[in-house]
Amino acid sequence: MSRSDLLAALCMGTALLSGCADMPSQPSGSGTVKITALGSHDGEFCPADRALVFEDPDGTRILYDAGRTVRGPADPRLGKIDAVLLSHVHSDHLGDLIQPSANAGACPKPDFSVNVAPNSNTVNIVLGKQAPLIVGGEPSFFQAKVKSLGGDPGKLVRLLRNGAQTMVGKVMVAGVPAVHSNGLPTVFLPPEQARLFEATGLTAYVGEPGGFVLRFSNGLTAYLSGDTGITAEQDLVIRGHYKANMVVMNIGGSPFTTGPEEAAYVVNDLVRPNSVIASQANEPATIGGKLAPNSRTAAFQKAAKMPVHVPLSGRTMQFDGSGRCVSGC
Ligand SMILES: [Zn+2]
Repeated sequence: MSRSDLLAALCMGTALLSGCADMPSQPSGSGTVKITALGSHDGEFCPADRALVFEDPDGTRILYDAGRTVRGPADPRLGKIDAVLLSHVHSDHLGDLIQPSANAGACPKPDFSVNVAPNSNTVNIVLGKQAPLIVGGEPSFFQAKVKSLGGDPGKLVRLLRNGAQTMVGKVMVAGVPAVHSNGLPTVFLPPEQARLFEATGLTAYVGEPGGFVLRFSNGLTAYLSGDTGITAEQDLVIRGHYKANMVVMNIGGSPFTTGPEEAAYVVNDLVRPNSVIASQANEPATIGGKLAPNSRTAAFQKAAKMPVHVPLSGRTMQFDGSGRCVSGC
């Protein structure tokens, strides 16, 4: 127990104890949540970077959207993983390709020459770590894939649609809406099925895309947007019901999702958190670990009214229960 934790515990017992008046008000539980980006290039924020690992003060570790930049289940950066979240099945989130080695290629154009389809990087990690995939939509696609690769779908695929919640250790995970699309790219299908879809340009239906709200044991309540546009739920549900105090926000822009201007509206006027982590910039946002001045990440940082933190790959940021970064940002 740290000195501040000990003091907090003592102060709960008496208001008269000397020193208690100086205690900062703790919004909820104690400790910090560690958030580490697993991008393509150490110390940078590169175009395909999406993956984040969240670690609760209780030690629970949750991977969000492995994408292409986690180098499979053996990536040493993963460590223990208790659950794998997937917002939607597009290739840059489910993961069709990965790097052959750490930092392969350059940040503006990473080397993703290792093909991990049709299994997908996400499912390979779920199987390798024996950690449940938490996903919305139609779970039968993942249940069949996990089963075909020798895994137990009952244990490894956990359905979580909008409005529902589940627990991973002491972390509450809720499914929230995203307005996007969720067609399954044909690379994840067996060749004979893929050919049928490719002939017509159709994609397979696997349900709706989603985002997540994570409430950690210290009170940090993080909204992970997934890929989305502006939605009324960001006001009514994410702020109104869950009271998110931190946001991981997609800023990649046209034609896929909110860009810096729209994302700034989401955080300034709808969710109104205490801090934000930029996500999915679809650009080499940093050079030598410094934000490129003309980047869309810099534009978003300027437009947002609260601190916007850049997820430099490999650097661990720590957040308190109020959603403020206290270390590593
Ligand atoms: Zn997408």
